[in-house]
Amino acid sequence: MNAGIITIGTELLIGSVLDTNSKYLSEKLSEIGVHVSYQLSLRDDFIELSTQIKYLLGKVDILFLCGGLGPTEDDITKEALAEVIDKKLVLDEYQYKKMLDRFSKLKKIMSPNNKKQAYVIEGSKVLDNKWGTAPGEVIEYNDKKIFLFPGPPKEFEPMINYYLKSNIKENNGIVLKSLNITGLGESTIEEIIRNLNLEKEHISINTFAHFYDTEIKIIAEGLDEHSLNVEVNNIVSKLYSTFGNFLYSEGEVKPKEALVRKLIEKNLTIGFAESITGGLLSSKLTSVKNASKVLKNSIISYSNESKVQVLKVSEDTLNNFGAVSYETSIEMAEGLYNMGLCDIAVSITGEAGPNPSEKEIGTVFVCYYYKNYFEVKEYLFSGNRTEIQERAADAVITHLLL
Ligand code: ATP
Ligand code: MG
Repeated sequence: MNAGIITIGTELLIGSVLDTNSKYLSEKLSEIGVHVSYQLSLRDDFIELSTQIKYLLGKVDILFLCGGLGPTEDDITKEALAEVIDKKLVLDEYQYKKMLDRFSKLKKIMSPNNKKQAYVIEGSKVLDNKWGTAPGEVIEYNDKKIFLFPGPPKEFEPMINYYLKSNIKENNGIVLKSLNITGLGESTIEEIIRNLNLEKEHISINTFAHFYDTEIKIIAEGLDEHSLNVEVNNIVSKLYSTFGNFLYSEGEVKPKEALVRKLIEKNLTIGFAESITGGLLSSKLTSVKNASKVLKNSIISYSNESKVQVLKVSEDTLNNFGAVSYETSIEMAEGLYNMGLCDIAVSITGEAGPNPSEKEIGTVFVCYYYKNYFEVKEYLFSGNRTEIQERAADAVITHLLL
């Protein structure tokens, strides 16, 4: 089953608003096995819109029209669709009453324009909008399905979540699986997969690189669902045995979530002594549920005084090697570890710029301290101040997954 998406609004074509709706919807459609063949953004132009609706109705099974359902003159989506499929617009009494109630509650006067939003395509199924005014609609037309959704993402996204799956049959002969890998570059991963010879005519395996991890997406289509599942599961076990620990999670599980899960499984607690990241690492971890089971004690140690007084870094070390150094990172981690509140103490110190200093901007030392064992990693990150901090924090999280 394939789909087309038209987003409507001049603002999308003059660069004032980024079309996030297509991305959001395409992702949700892929998850349920609907293949998106077209994404099109159009101005608020009646003729252009009706021409493209006609064209795409000849190409796809499901058409999405997103935006242009508002009360203003330039909102013409319903009108254009009604003309193409030769249907009338009729007043939906329930939507109209809802609108009147809303205005009276807000003690506002409803302009005649607003009534326009209560008109729907005759014979359509109306999708009530609990997040705004303009309702969505689904129309069955010559074996095709046409969806209308309002444009503002705050309404669009919850409506997609609420209505998409119940209105489209799931898993249209497609099985999707995604696996997340860290610690290896995308090209290495791709080469390893290619050498495993797993791809077949009906099974594709693609990689998508993110900052610190790579997603492997397996798409299988064509056969009956049971055989596809068996084949995909075989591929997944081969990938697990090939990539071992590098393969840290499946689906939408992010590195920080996988880390909390892993530490809980291993019954280990952690703490961070943060200089360059100023609490970012701890904050990333605390954003994950159950973080309190693993994160026990973090210190933001931004100044030399704090490093000396709180983490017991020796003044000699700071004077001889500087705050951003291999030696200081070890003493920071050791100091945190000796507080006795966590099993793994991780320190991070570095140079985020932008002012030049002794160490090259982007230099970061991380020390992992565990029992009597420690390991220091030195990095050189590029980017501005916040990018360096983000990258450093992500590097620590993904390293801890290995
Ligand atoms: P209403 O006017 O009732 O809010 P509508 O369906 O008419 O609903 P639009 O006028 O098309 O919505 O869009 C309203 C706002 O929503 C736009 O100004 C824009 O900020 C945002 N928006 C619209 N389409 C998109 C899109 N594809 N991606 C991201 N934002 C969008
Ligand atoms: Mg608009």
